[in-house]
Amino acid sequence: MDTTPTGGPGLPQERRLVTEIPGPESQARLARKKEHVADGVGTALPVFVTAAGGGVLQDVDGNSLIDLGSGIAVTTVGNAAPRVVERLTAQAAAFTHTCFMVTPYDGYVDVCAKLAELTPGDHPKKSALFNSGAEAVENAVKIARSATGRDAVAVFDHAYHGRTNLTMAMTAKNMPYKHRFGPFAGEVYRAPLSYPARDGLSGAEAAARAIDVLDKQVGADNLACLVIEPILGEGGFVVPADGFLPALKEWTEAKGIVFVADEIQSGFCRTGDWFACDHEGVVPDLVTTAKGIAGGMPLAAVTGRAEIMDAVHVGGLGGTYGGNPVACAAALGAIEEMQEHDLVGRARAIGDLMRARLEDLAGKHDVIADIRGRGAMMAIELNEPGTANPDPVRAAAVNAHCHRQGVVTLTCGTWGNVFRFLPPLSTSDELLHEAFDVVAEAFAATA
Ligand SMILES: *Cc1c(COP(=O)(O)O)cnc(C)c1O
Repeated sequence: MDTTPTGGPGLPQERRLVTEIPGPESQARLARKKEHVADGVGTALPVFVTAAGGGVLQDVDGNSLIDLGSGIAVTTVGNAAPRVVERLTAQAAAFTHTCFMVTPYDGYVDVCAKLAELTPGDHPKKSALFNSGAEAVENAVKIARSATGRDAVAVFDHAYHGRTNLTMAMTAKNMPYKHRFGPFAGEVYRAPLSYPARDGLSGAEAAARAIDVLDKQVGADNLACLVIEPILGEGGFVVPADGFLPALKEWTEAKGIVFVADEIQSGFCRTGDWFACDHEGVVPDLVTTAKGIAGGMPLAAVTGRAEIMDAVHVGGLGGTYGGNPVACAAALGAIEEMQEHDLVGRARAIGDLMRARLEDLAGKHDVIADIRGRGAMMAIELNEPGTANPDPVRAAAVNAHCHRQGVVTLTCGTWGNVFRFLPPLSTSDELLHEAFDVVAEAFAATA
């Protein structure tokens, strides 16, 4: 008998707890994990998953959990989304790999054409495909250096760009991403970000501060690129003050610096637009994408101005698996889901629902110092009441309560005091309300 569980939107859309979390079956598997998997690979909520879809994850003990994390902003179209499964299954049956650098295929070119259509700006664009977000960021830097003949890279406070050597240098937070992993790549310089809840600066003021640091400490003429998350991911879902991104863009344009928007977490409908840059009409020179692009399959891209992308010599970009045909098929299926189901609109509606619930919660718990985000990328920051002191202890307690009650919540932020809410866009309003009822209970229980 085929006992393979079927996921996707057909899975019963309910929170169902039949054991403690993690249950006995998950606990037995955790012992195996401990035996075979390196301890450095942690897990936030150790239930072993058997099927997922819509807005839920089902585990080996028969529990069904509400997913507010989308596997870190990946399953935007939902887990095992029908068009993704259909297209990748057909592609896997046709061929699984040729290496695009050896013999090409349509799926790769189709994804690049879609990226040109969907990313900000209507200038001529080209793309190159990779496997992970970090790899895309590394390649954006390679391309910017090749195009400008300059070395230096500007990044920002609280930034997260990945875990490879160069992207660790670009990432701000030491623990757990960088600790004891140095020495790091050179020529990476950090500027202050706009963080409205903490610095109180306007976008123009914060941009002037960042530009002054870069001008005086690095020199605009030495900068190949400026790399920024238009809404921070890992760093705490910080939305820079209005005008910050446009002012930086204007400065980079005047100084011949390549403006790279790292939209790996914020891209592909998440924020209630195709890309977070769209909210302020900022048109980056290069955009890095990954996570939400392919419904869970590993795929990443650098997309940008054709003349910048083409600065690199033939053979200078690539990789064995970059733009794998199965991953490309999944991306085409995911993009079709986004377009046909108006997931941009759905992200906005989910954002409105979450904001209303979070505002209600903040009215009852003064530990909640800030509510921020756009669309289905919302966060709350927890501080000791009446102070700017981060409260990661309370955040951890609330998080643990949610997990025990079958809601997959994720924390983030430099101080670990931020909750980020990023459900799959295939989650029903009913499930979202139930999840936020649990979050509310968690705040009450830990008060
Ligand atoms: C996740 C993330 C990355 C790294 O992506 P990986 O696929 O994990 O290498 C880079 N930048 C941002 C903004 C991210 O959220």
